[in-house]
Amino acid sequence: MKLSQRITHITGGGSDGWDVFYRARRMIDAGHKVTELTIGEHDIRTHPSILEAMNKAAVGGRTGYAEVPGSFALRDAVAARIQERTGVPTTQQNILITPGGQAALFATHNAVCDQGDTALYIDPYYATYPGTIRGIGAVPKSIQAHAENDFQPKAADIAAVAEGAKSLLINSPNNPTGVIYSPETLGEIAQVCIDNDLWLISDEVYDTQIWEGTHLSPRALPNMAERTLVVGSMSKSHAMTGSRIGWVCGPPEVIKHLINLATHTTYGVPGYIQDAAQFALAQGTPLEDEVSAPFQRRRLLTLQALEGQNVVRNVPVQGAMYAMLDIRSTGMTGEEFSNALLDAELIATMPGESFGKAAAGHIRVAMTINDDAYVDAIKRLVAFAKTKVAS
Ligand code: PMP
Repeated sequence: MKLSQRITHITGGGSDGWDVFYRARRMIDAGHKVTELTIGEHDIRTHPSILEAMNKAAVGGRTGYAEVPGSFALRDAVAARIQERTGVPTTQQNILITPGGQAALFATHNAVCDQGDTALYIDPYYATYPGTIRGIGAVPKSIQAHAENDFQPKAADIAAVAEGAKSLLINSPNNPTGVIYSPETLGEIAQVCIDNDLWLISDEVYDTQIWEGTHLSPRALPNMAERTLVVGSMSKSHAMTGSRIGWVCGPPEVIKHLINLATHTTYGVPGYIQDAAQFALAQGTPLEDEVSAPFQRRRLLTLQALEGQNVVRNVPVQGAMYAMLDIRSTGMTGEEFSNALLDAELIATMPGESFGKAAAGHIRVAMTINDDAYVDAIKRLVAFAKTKVAS
């Protein structure tokens, strides 16, 4: 039986740099002691107080069908958080609760793109972006942000392909690069969106992990609230990856239609998860800071471990839980380096190429293991790179 083009074309097919990841997994299954620096998953679990709130809600009966758009109280809490941090007037009418940021990415593209429409996104990109766009029947088109420009996208490059496109997806703080888009970059991007009548989909799931500079939500820029859909999530901010809870923040008219979409797809998020999320948000920034502290520490440890050599150079780690390392001095591709490092040192990293063409010759390191093991891995990685330059 024939399947739809839409579903069979979600992933591009062929080698996409993820081979090394699956090879590392197989090595672990076979009993090898691999140091895993691949996936954006905290090495701590969800805070016990959040789990208590979840348990209390579930035992108290919040196990039936829940409010599809999200409970009023949770939507209020998300709206208040956004208004407080961005200054943009925000109410529950602007908020849809979704099963994680991924569902929000799918929903937002679904809301603004028709079949065959062009949806723009920036390369390097989070792995699911092109597939999400294909999944709703639109055509993904990437715009490279170059290493030479510290992976800040250039407005002129976006403008050059913007004509006729429906949306632009950006992500700051950025996975995989760890770069935060500057206010200048965001201001110019906003202008391109206005000039070309593009929807801006702003993935801000790393908004609590800011190590250098400030996080600016482009929804706060002049005339942008009406054309910006913000994707949020509690996966990274509250170590709730498995709870699947996030949101879309956008104009009420868009949210109204997205509630319809949720009614006909996910049917919302479990009530006990929603209540736990509401509890977590009520704890404010102290809990968020506790969750993000290990990455802030390891970012400094990364810089220290890279001092005094220039074989492995780091892209400025301004935010998020990753360090992007430039290994072009070895003459190897990211994929060759990651594979060779896995074989020689049993250290698993992600080749830059798995996040698009712009990150070729780089590797992404997730700062998600304990400090000592992490520093040891970075030092061994540098020593390994040096042997490749010499040979
Ligand atoms: N956007 C980015 C940039 C991500 O890195 C991730 C997860 N790694 C997501 C969205 C989706 O996260 P979740 O669905 O867990 O909220």
